[in-house]
Amino acid sequence: MSEKTGVGVIGLGSMGLGMARTLAAKGFEVKGFDLSPVRRDLAAEGGVHPAQTIAEAFRDMNFVVFSLPTAKDVEAVVTQHADLLGGEERGRVVIIDTSTSEPDVSRALAAKLDLLGHGFLDAPVSGGPGGAASGALTMMIGGKDSDLALARPVIEALSSKALHVGPSGAGNVAKLVNNMLAAAHMVTTGEGLKLALAAGIDPEAALRVVNAASGRSMISEVHFPTWVMSDRFDSGFSMGLMRKDVRLAHELAQSTGAVTPLSDLVAKLWAEGSEELSDQDDFTRMGAFRADR
Ligand code: NAD
Repeated sequence: MSEKTGVGVIGLGSMGLGMARTLAAKGFEVKGFDLSPVRRDLAAEGGVHPAQTIAEAFRDMNFVVFSLPTAKDVEAVVTQHADLLGGEERGRVVIIDTSTSEPDVSRALAAKLDLLGHGFLDAPVSGGPGGAASGALTMMIGGKDSDLALARPVIEALSSKALHVGPSGAGNVAKLVNNMLAAAHMVTTGEGLKLALAAGIDPEAALRVVNAASGRSMISEVHFPTWVMSDRFDSGFSMGLMRKDVRLAHELAQSTGAVTPLSDLVAKLWAEGSEELSDQDDFTRMGAFRADR
């Protein structure tokens, strides 16, 4: 193994590409794999060694970072490739799963890998493709203190804020809570501006007021000015992925018995209420408030 710390990155999409490039720029030896050759080429342009197989991005690495669409993808990759991490003689390899995944799946994978002498942290992120590219993500982490201590250098390279929420699965729960709120803010902020418009006020002026007063959120302060008011709708986070997050949060409320009537309605709106939006559309389209958008 080279003197550099080896990090495999699996999934080089909107988030994973920026993370892989950030790690390479900060001196890690990064091997990146994506099912899409186009994404692997983009990674290579940023100093990442493009792995031709997923095995290459697992073998001989000190850490493996995941940025995959769903818990199903995460589970499949770990199940099929965990043996490539090697036995105890290799030392403990920690998988840092930044995907927005499911707490039960993370707990099961952490237990399984622990038996093999390796670690698994659920470490979902907030901050979008821009945060991934600049190493300024917010990371919410579930898992063992000792695995977090081992993974610290990678986590610090990727994030400006890293919060250890609790044991395995706790990071996923916190992320689902966060995205349920972000999904609600996208709807309520759009409705607020619709109301302003209907009542004869310039929506730009109304948004300036909200952002100087108590109705604001990161959605109103960042997402509306950047991607909604400008009609750009290209934040790099898809409707499909946000629908998944809102559905998972809703299912978590149902399975835990938490009573969340407003969030239930928000979940319904994201799932069905806007059928004209496809999973490929940008999630900021849910905030569109003008009749012609
Ligand atoms: P994306 O669809 O842009 O990228 C996912 C990538 O994974 C794709 O390039 C796909 O080809 C690849 N992939 C799928 N299965 C694979 C496999 N088995 N092996 C290798 N590559 C595989 O998604 P994204 O927006 O980058 O999101 C990734 C994760 O991060 C998701 O869980 C998402 O919910 C979460 N997330 C996204 C954002 C955002 O703003 N985009 C923000 C926070 C969290």
